Amino acid sequence: MTGAPADMENPLHRLTDEQIDEIGKEFQAIHDEVYEDLGERDAVYIRSIIQFHRRLAALSRVVLMASRYKPAWVLGTAGLSTAKIIENMEIGHNVMHGQWDWMNDPYIHSSTWDWDTASPASAWKHSHNYVHHTFTNVVGKDHDVGYEIMRVDPSQKWYPHYLLQPFYNVLLMAFFEWGVAVHDLDFEAIRTGKKPKSQVKDELKEIGRKARRQIVKDYIAFPALSGPKGWKATLAANFTANIVRNVWSNAIIFCGHFPDQAYTFTEEEGADDRPGAWYVRQLIGAANIDGGPFFHFMSGNLSFQVEHHLYPDLPSSRYQEIAPRVKDICERYGLPYNTGPFRRQWGSVQRTLVRLAFPGGKPRKKAPPYEAPAPAVEGNGGAPDGNGRATTERVLASFP
Ligand SMILES: [Zn+2]
Repeated sequence: MTGAPADMENPLHRLTDEQIDEIGKEFQAIHDEVYEDLGERDAVYIRSIIQFHRRLAALSRVVLMASRYKPAWVLGTAGLSTAKIIENMEIGHNVMHGQWDWMNDPYIHSSTWDWDTASPASAWKHSHNYVHHTFTNVVGKDHDVGYEIMRVDPSQKWYPHYLLQPFYNVLLMAFFEWGVAVHDLDFEAIRTGKKPKSQVKDELKEIGRKARRQIVKDYIAFPALSGPKGWKATLAANFTANIVRNVWSNAIIFCGHFPDQAYTFTEEEGADDRPGAWYVRQLIGAANIDGGPFFHFMSGNLSFQVEHHLYPDLPSSRYQEIAPRVKDICERYGLPYNTGPFRRQWGSVQRTLVRLAFPGGKPRKKAPPYEAPAPAVEGNGGAPDGNGRATTERVLASFP
């Protein structure tokens, strides 16, 4: 690593207008090529994942009917936690992005899918698909920068309540789905009167409806199936599975935008609407996490947050294949490609949350321009970049 200065300027400012145009065209060409190629292999993938999730969730619920016996509790809770993670991350988030809309399947479609979490689908689609994915990391516009309650970037003004952020951060991890559900309301718009009261009322009603459904399902109906002797243990199992899913999704999502090397932008920078500028902001405002096929799958492929932000409408199962082409663009234009092991990404996020609870704080060192590793020596199984397709097939092959 070359020692880039801490205040290294945004790479966007180093690029010429021609380069920004070219970059826009190159990124768009990758999108169009992959989109053209979508077909049976992708449809089989999502259908088998949905089927696998159903079986795992149903089986775990059945095992939990005997939850008053410890081994059944442990097995059922582990299965249900895994099922909830898969449902939220590889299925829910991605289906609701419209990644599978091209199949024209009325069921696996962004307009009809609802997920097993507290956020109503319609509110989440607005705050996530539109606000967050359009104004990614633009401080003051993207409400996911600190979720309106955290200071995650030194350019955010400090207020005394941030002193408590290391504590409520732990609460947010555990109850992340509820944090996301109320965050969709957009407190800033309510406070400034931008959002009409009638709309707030409607949205609150919708959250109430969804919350009731979730609570009845996990804390009344399924526990009841375990009978008078087992309902308490099943309720505890469902509560635990929700917490496990919340902590995991919070970790993956925070690693996607708040590690040290991810850039944030001013509103002025965010207003540059040239396609190339938008692509570069998506590229440098997101961060990936290194890992194997199982890790990528359990993160809903949001370990490829960079590729997800460049191509939110392309199926998540394609991100790993696209990654080498993104790196190639980075190398040719001297742009960073942000990635690192989970420990490092998550650790830097937590350090930032503690440091920025206090006033001040400087931007951390950013990633240098991407450089491809030296070519793999023949016979070592190939460079990690070359096996994207094989990896997807390996994941696929491990499911019924
Ligand atoms: Zn997304």
